[in-house]
Amino acid sequence: MNYIYQFDIAAIIVSLAVISSFFARKTIPTRKFKAFVFEIAMILGSSTFDLISIYSLANAESFPIKLNYLINIIYIVTTLLLPFCFFFCIYFATESLDDEGPLHPKLLFIFPIIVAVFIVITTPVTGLAFYFDENLNYIHGPLFPVLFGISFFYLISTFVRAFGRTKILLKDQTSSIIFYSFASLIAFILQILIPNLMIVGFMASIATLHIFISVENPAKYIDNDTGCFNREAFICETKRLFQRGKTFRIVGIRISGLKDLTELIGIDNETFLIKSIESEITKICKKRNLYRLSTKYFAAILNDDVNTQQEFIIQLRQIFKEPFKINSIEISISDYITYLSCPKDAENVEDVLDLIENTLAEMSGKESGSVVKVNKQILVLRRRENQVLQVLKQAVRKTEFEVFFQPIYCLKKNRFTTAEALIRLKLDSDDYGFIGPEEFIPIAEKNGLILQIGEFVFENVCRFLVKERIWEKGIEYIHVNLSAVQCMQEKLASQLLSIMDAYHLDYKYINFEVTETAAIVSSEKLLSNMNKMIEKGINFALDDYGTGFSNTASLINYPFHTIKLDKSMVWAGFDDDNKAGRIVEHTINMVKSLNMEVIAEGVESPEQAQKLKKMGCDYIQGYLFSKPITGKQFVELLNKEDNNKLEF
Ligand code: C2E
Ligand code: CA
Ligand code: CA
Repeated sequence: MNYIYQFDIAAIIVSLAVISSFFARKTIPTRKFKAFVFEIAMILGSSTFDLISIYSLANAESFPIKLNYLINIIYIVTTLLLPFCFFFCIYFATESLDDEGPLHPKLLFIFPIIVAVFIVITTPVTGLAFYFDENLNYIHGPLFPVLFGISFFYLISTFVRAFGRTKILLKDQTSSIIFYSFASLIAFILQILIPNLMIVGFMASIATLHIFISVENPAKYIDNDTGCFNREAFICETKRLFQRGKTFRIVGIRISGLKDLTELIGIDNETFLIKSIESEITKICKKRNLYRLSTKYFAAILNDDVNTQQEFIIQLRQIFKEPFKINSIEISISDYITYLSCPKDAENVEDVLDLIENTLAEMSGKESGSVVKVNKQILVLRRRENQVLQVLKQAVRKTEFEVFFQPIYCLKKNRFTTAEALIRLKLDSDDYGFIGPEEFIPIAEKNGLILQIGEFVFENVCRFLVKERIWEKGIEYIHVNLSAVQCMQEKLASQLLSIMDAYHLDYKYINFEVTETAAIVSSEKLLSNMNKMIEKGINFALDDYGTGFSNTASLINYPFHTIKLDKSMVWAGFDDDNKAGRIVEHTINMVKSLNMEVIAEGVESPEQAQKLKKMGCDYIQGYLFSKPITGKQFVELLNKEDNNKLEF
């Protein structure tokens, strides 16, 4: 027969190129990766032995019969393993990260290959796969078609898997997988129809290469700045170690002081600096054990040995004791170090990252070179956060919230003229203890649930105001809190205005409270949303003034009508320290001189109220008058005759 062996040679060249580039490059040995390497090795084996067998069959008489058997057995086994490995390449490639649980290969996928290999390796005795007749001609045995059938089975399974899993892949990945599964199937059929074509190995090598590049792009594990492994690589490797039940240690490193440096020395120099830091660290641990988790965070995976860990940490601290040099400028970098032992301190990669990153973040302000063990309390907090999130999700689904109102007293009119709407969670079981808004609002903000919660609160407020005709009870408007996340929404203003329209509520009955965070995270959106609503007659209050970031820029740059002094400021103003009291007084004066009104929050005693009144405060809100109460209780309070006679 006249064989077209050029395809085999091409397959060998492609496979060799792929294999050498695999090993030249840094890679994470995921099972997807291993399956690809194994597949390429099989292509190499199959094509090489295909060529050898052509030669040995053509010159059968000069080859010992045993050697001829061996060559053909290797050829057939490697060729059988091609579709089998290809199936697993596609199987792993179409696995989402979360799928990477322990592999339970179904008997269905292992059994046929075992049968096939058994038929082939026993063929010198049984002659079932092939045999040589007395003229040393190669003859297919009676079970040879079974081998074809089994290969066909794997190719069809691959195709089915690729089609069924398209959802988790990107579009071009999907099309490349489907295309090559299909092409391999065609090549296989062609091979049966035209036995001298020898195209299977070639097609498989191209398919494997292309799928490997499009799905398992090895560069995705490498950090661009330093060439060391990145976060994704860390996740893969840690997962793998956990899965294999290994014990290991991790040292986390945070480099501090870079943020301000960037402005000083420029981005290029900063990259250079990071690169030098990375190369210093790789001098004391193997390069493949170091990972850059994010700009300023590195982690090293070490063997489970206290001494190795301690030695590493000592050397690490040494690196940062000396300043780094860039363009002959000496730059001192601070470092913080934390460590943990797996699986003792953390049982999965999410916990590992949580522990390292949060422990290192908590170390701000400590001396450079500080070393602490991970703070496991973080996991307790995270677990609680997850529980609260579950409760919140359910509460959002079933609208298990209620809006309370806390009356606000007007010192000029000596009565309640307004109130703040505050959300409460209605819990039917106390499995989780008390969950107040201080706890659940930040969690809702992180998960976007705040948008639905905010809408619920606002609708309820509008409905309540209209139903109770609250303006007839001396209330001039109601304060409603807007989260920073809500303020970032382009359509916030139109959404809120349309809710008011739906309830036919006059715009002047609403006053929104926003915190300074909103101004920081979304200055332009906030301003445009504010302006759209102010135009309609809605006023805005700056909440929590005197905490965190408060600075006068917000007073100047945003059209606030009212400033709410935070309770911490109010409380500090009434302890023995006279300074704090003077700050409160001057703040009130400053705000008033800017033609804004002042509300003091957290007022708990008549003395506080008296002093604030003297200082010129306009409104007071606090437990002195009332805790937040239900809408019904609020109406009852207002209906009491003495609402107009409260006095200080
Ligand atoms: P905030 O906006 O600063 O609300 C005032 C908080 O101070 C309320 O806590 C209120 O009950 C409490 N408070 C008022 N007077 C006193 C007092 O005299 N003494 C003490 N110790 N506390 C007083 P609450 O209701 O637990 O709400 C906590 C935070 O949750 C709020 O702080 C606000 O940031 C957020 N929040 C509550 N409801 C909503 C809402 O509907 N939307 C949004 N985005 N956030 C909300
Ligand atoms: Ca508020
Ligand atoms: Ca407040």
